[in-house]
Amino acid sequence: ESLLGRIERLDGELNSFITVTADQALSAADAADAARAKGDAGPLTGLPLALKDIFCTQGVRTSCGSKMLDTFVSPYDATVVEKLAAAGTISLGKTNMDEFAMGSSNENSFYGPVKNPWDLSAVPGGSSGGSAAAVAAGLVPAALGTDTGGSIRQPAAFCGITGLKPTYGRVSRYGMVAYASSLDQAGPMARSAEDCALLLGTIAGHDLRDSTSVARGVPDYRDELEASLSGLKIGLPKEYFGDGLDPEVETAVRDAIKVYESMGASIREVSLPHTDLAIPAYYVIAPAEASSNLSRYDGVRFGHRCENPADLIDLYKRSRAEGFGEEVKRRILIGTHTLSEGFFDAYYKKAQQVRRLIRQDFLDAFEDVDVLMGPASPTPAFDLGAKKDPVSMYLQDIYTIAINLAGIPGISVPAGFVGNRPVGLQILGPHFAEQQLLNVAHQFQ
Ligand code: GLN
Repeated sequence: ESLLGRIERLDGELNSFITVTADQALSAADAADAARAKGDAGPLTGLPLALKDIFCTQGVRTSCGSKMLDTFVSPYDATVVEKLAAAGTISLGKTNMDEFAMGSSNENSFYGPVKNPWDLSAVPGGSSGGSAAAVAAGLVPAALGTDTGGSIRQPAAFCGITGLKPTYGRVSRYGMVAYASSLDQAGPMARSAEDCALLLGTIAGHDLRDSTSVARGVPDYRDELEASLSGLKIGLPKEYFGDGLDPEVETAVRDAIKVYESMGASIREVSLPHTDLAIPAYYVIAPAEASSNLSRYDGVRFGHRCENPADLIDLYKRSRAEGFGEEVKRRILIGTHTLSEGFFDAYYKKAQQVRRLIRQDFLDAFEDVDVLMGPASPTPAFDLGAKKDPVSMYLQDIYTIAINLAGIPGISVPAGFVGNRPVGLQILGPHFAEQQLLNVAHQFQ
């Protein structure tokens, strides 16, 4: 009740929620109280949280930040939603996001931009900007986000919270509205690594309904939080400290790395030579997959349908023209083009080959070091409305996107401020090294 009151007071300004499910939350709270009274409570029983509006929630609107799905009420729960409910958590609602998770500032939402709680003239980052802002503002202690090219880590960095993108396949994507299926992963956003560990342990695991989820045991991610970091080998990718990095962000990140040195970690420079190719490869692969995934919104099966169509083709055309926003249309056009006959080999296939090289860069680096560290974003949160040109927005993702192409996990932890805007330290590890990332993140906090 106190958090619902806080949302009521503060969220008119922040706009971090698209839908608040107060009634369902209050009855779930009664159920949690009853479970506690019976001695049935687990560590998450009664924990209030929020879900990015990309996760299907039975009986509750799932808009994905789009006019296309403004009236879509999901008939089923996503696997992660089911698991969180089974653990006794209480969803307070669905958080704002860039339309279909396309963006880095949460300014592409049909429901309007979200404001950064640290500075209301700044963006919260994106696309999970609503989840990040809601946690940072103390509207919920934790939230779920998704990360296709940085959408958990960059908003976590901009809002001064901790956000973890798990290894591709660690968490089921069933019931998560698809953007780029070979890159999408759900993950926790919270105030500490320990909270992220609890949530990841709840949502991770194999799911027969997602063939890309991996059949591999789920440890208790809290087990190693206190392990010593003495002897840890940290690599600093030189490409992540080059041109374009804000000097004050660099100072904050290097200061954080010194803290690890003082704990007995050793630091060395490494190289990820194909870093320059990550943004071009991503902006071929992600739009290609998106154009295919978004073909299901045809005005017949899901969401928005235009008025009085003249015929079937008119129905398709106008429903899609009216339902999708500008950035989504831009990506459908790019993706359709790169997948079309005559361009497929030159763009899509080439991008997949480049992706392989990017992945190999990380595998080579992890031969020599345990984890990599660098900034989550080249700048702190920028002003609302500051980035009008889509390419300058795409360049924001320079330090986050390669991680999704490689499928490895990454976490952003708060590492100070530039003025009143937070800075995130990004920590990367080999596939399925979540436990180690959480250990390293926890020791800093
Ligand atoms: N900013 C990137 C994009 O617009 C990544 C978004 C994401 O991770 N969902 O595609």
